[in-house]
Amino acid sequence: ISRRLVESQKSLWVEFSKLALEHNALNLGQGFPDFQPPQFLLDALKDAAASGNYLMNQYTRGYGHARLVNAIADVYSPIMERKIDPMSEILISVGAYGSLFCSLQGMINDGDEVIIIEPFFDCYDPMVKVAGGVPVFVPLRPTKTGVSMATSSADWKLDEKELESKFNEKTKAIIINTPNNPLGKVFSREELDVIAKLCIKYDVICISDEVYEWLVFDDNKHIKIATLPGMWERTLTIGSAGKTFSATGWKLGWTIGPSDILVGAKTMHQNCNYTCPTILQEATAVGFEHELKRMGTPECYFSQLPKELEPKRDKLINLMTEMGMWPVIPQGGYFLLADITGLNIDLSQEAADEPRDFQFVKWMTKNKKLTAIPPSAFYCKEHQSVGENYVRLCFIKKDETLEKASKILREWK
Ligand code: PMP
Ligand code: GLN
Repeated sequence: ISRRLVESQKSLWVEFSKLALEHNALNLGQGFPDFQPPQFLLDALKDAAASGNYLMNQYTRGYGHARLVNAIADVYSPIMERKIDPMSEILISVGAYGSLFCSLQGMINDGDEVIIIEPFFDCYDPMVKVAGGVPVFVPLRPTKTGVSMATSSADWKLDEKELESKFNEKTKAIIINTPNNPLGKVFSREELDVIAKLCIKYDVICISDEVYEWLVFDDNKHIKIATLPGMWERTLTIGSAGKTFSATGWKLGWTIGPSDILVGAKTMHQNCNYTCPTILQEATAVGFEHELKRMGTPECYFSQLPKELEPKRDKLINLMTEMGMWPVIPQGGYFLLADITGLNIDLSQEAADEPRDFQFVKWMTKNKKLTAIPPSAFYCKEHQSVGENYVRLCFIKKDETLEKASKILREWK
């Protein structure tokens, strides 16, 4: 293995998916639905396969299958409040992972700094480093700690002064993620304004990971930072078909942004992947076309899915509250953090050099046959102690699965 990869050899996802399998545990860890994507999407794939059109099975346009980039431009132009050019302002990659990777590879020079907001989706850190960049971390700080009650992801805030102190002439980009994984925080207009003003003041690019954009609860609204004044010019907005259509195995992601910034990502993509699977892009395009016709109506999948998820989230909130594992109520996404500090469990059998949340999840998997994800993995080494106090649970699961989790937790109590 190359020197630049040694440090990132260990993977949270590999480790905990394997652990769940080994112990035949109920898996509320890795984020994926345990139910089918919508029927119209599956039909679109079936129709593409049965079409008799040989082109469905051959390479398509490298930067994105024409029908898909056109559909994405049609869906997002009104949302972005500008006419997006499908041919120059959109890139299709291998999942949002691919979008993040190509974006970072495409813009970073050795020693460039990239600001990452904690807690962060864990791949941001190795991706910045492997591109030759230096990650600079800034935490969302919980403003309600030590309270014996449920709190909200809205209570986790950036300190404006602390954030500004991370910007300097070496700062190339900031990565934001709203709704956030693992916290579920949906950044407010005011919070995005602060970030946008700093990006403009210091001439910094914003990479906005919005894979959970449709999944917002209560009265929260997802706002695209690219729509703030002066931000389109400096923002790459990333989305995922896997999250949008509950089909994480399809691994199609997109990056939308001005062509002069996107050019780096396109160059990386053309030389490391060239193109993404044609038939999946065709089916995703048809999926978007299908939803475009009913955008904003209750029947639209993008409105239906959060409505379906909200009671699942609430079920888990109630369960965790009953257990005294105080939940941080997520405003969006499909994860929930629960506080494990009040639990009195003997973890002395677990590896002593691991953070407490890692020990706890391993203990729970082995002894209670329930798996989750330890959130300290979403912090840099120095700040792991914040994440150690929590466990991350995924609630995009069948009611039956959540019922099983509920049984495990109630019996444990
Ligand atoms: N960003 C975030 C915040 C995620 O949670 C994930 C995981 N799905 C990704 C990016 C990667 O998405 P994809 O599966 O489309 O590669
Ligand atoms: N994004 C998903 C999660 O956070 C899955 C990530 C992965 O499997 N690499 O759980």
